[in-house]
Amino acid sequence: MSDFAERLLVWFDGAGRHDLPWQHPRSPYRVWLAEIMLQQTQVRTVIPYYQRFTAALPSLSALAQAPLDQVLALWSGLGYYSRARNLHRTAGMCMDNHNGELPCDFAALSALPGIGRSTAGAILAQAHGLPFPILDGNVRRVLCRLHGIDDWPGAAATQQQLWGLAQSHLPDTRLADYTQAQMDLGASVCTRSTPRCDACPLRDQCAAHREQRTAQLPARRSKPALPQRETHMLLVLDKQQRLLLTRRPPTGIWPSLWSLPQVRDTGEADRWLAGIIKTGKSPQQLGEPLLHTFSHFRLQITALHYAMVQAKPIAGDNPDMQWRSLDALDQIGLPAPVRRLISRLAA
Ligand code: SF4
Repeated sequence: MSDFAERLLVWFDGAGRHDLPWQHPRSPYRVWLAEIMLQQTQVRTVIPYYQRFTAALPSLSALAQAPLDQVLALWSGLGYYSRARNLHRTAGMCMDNHNGELPCDFAALSALPGIGRSTAGAILAQAHGLPFPILDGNVRRVLCRLHGIDDWPGAAATQQQLWGLAQSHLPDTRLADYTQAQMDLGASVCTRSTPRCDACPLRDQCAAHREQRTAQLPARRSKPALPQRETHMLLVLDKQQRLLLTRRPPTGIWPSLWSLPQVRDTGEADRWLAGIIKTGKSPQQLGEPLLHTFSHFRLQITALHYAMVQAKPIAGDNPDMQWRSLDALDQIGLPAPVRRLISRLAA
C-alpha cells in the first residue's frame, strides 16, 4: 500500500467521518445520490436534503417512477437543478437498460447523465470496493499542495497530472474508507483558507507546508468580473392568499422550475398582468433588490408586490401557470432566491 494511503487510512480510523447517512447502508443508489448532492454543496447542508430525499424515494426504481416535479421539489434549495434532472433521467435509463441497477462497469456508469469520471470512481470505490480514484475539489487541493503543483488545477494538462497521481496513491484494500478519507481530509484538515497542517497525517511529505505556500496553492485562475443583469419579479397575491406562479422554460436558468413571473419593468408588468388579474392595483416594491450570483452573471431582482388582486380564470388551462396557496409552496420546486423573496411576504 502506498505511504500516502496508509497514513490517510490510519488518520481516517481516528478522525474521519463514520456515521454519514449514505454509509449506512452503503448501497450504490445511496452512494450515487450522496455523490451528486455533494457536488458543489457541503456535507452539513446535504444531510437533511439527503434524509428527506431517501425517505420519499428510497430506491432507484422509486426515483425512476416519481414525477420530475416531486424530484425537483425534494431538491428545492440545493441549487444546480440540472443535477436533479440528471438523477431522474439516469434512474429511468437504469430501469430501461441496466436491469434496474446502476451498472458497476466504469465505462457504462460514467456514460450516464451527470456521472463524470470522479463521481463514477467514487460510486465504484464506495459501493463496490473497486480500485478507482476520485478527483473532486478536495482531492485536487490536497494533491496540489502535497506535490507542490503550481499550475491551475482546472487546466487540462494539470488535470491529467492529478489523475495520474490519484491513481498512483490507490491502496489495494479498504477503497470505500480510503475514498471517504480523502474527502474528509480536504473538508476538515486541508481546507481552502486555513489548513490545519499540525493535525495532518501528510505533513512531513507536503511541499506546500514545507515551503510555506499553503496560501498560494492550489493556484487560482484569474476571473473576469461578472456582468450584472436586472429584472423584476412579481409577487401577485389574490384575496384567498394564493400566489401567482409560472413555470420556467426547460432551458436557461432554473430550467422547468416553478418561479415568480419575471418582467423587465412595471410597464411590462401591467401589460403582462392585464389578462390574468383585474388591473388597477399599483404594486409596492418589497424590500431592497436582491442580488443573486450565477456562474456567469449576477442578477439583481426587484420584487413587486400586488396585494388582494382579483384573479381571472387562467386562459386555456395553461399548465405552466398556477395560483398556489402560500401554505402549499413546500410541495413544489422553487429556486432559493425566489423562496427568499416570497418569505418577505410574511415579514
Ligand atoms: S500538510 Fe497542510 S497543506 Fe499539506 S496536505 Fe496537510 S493540511 Fe494540506
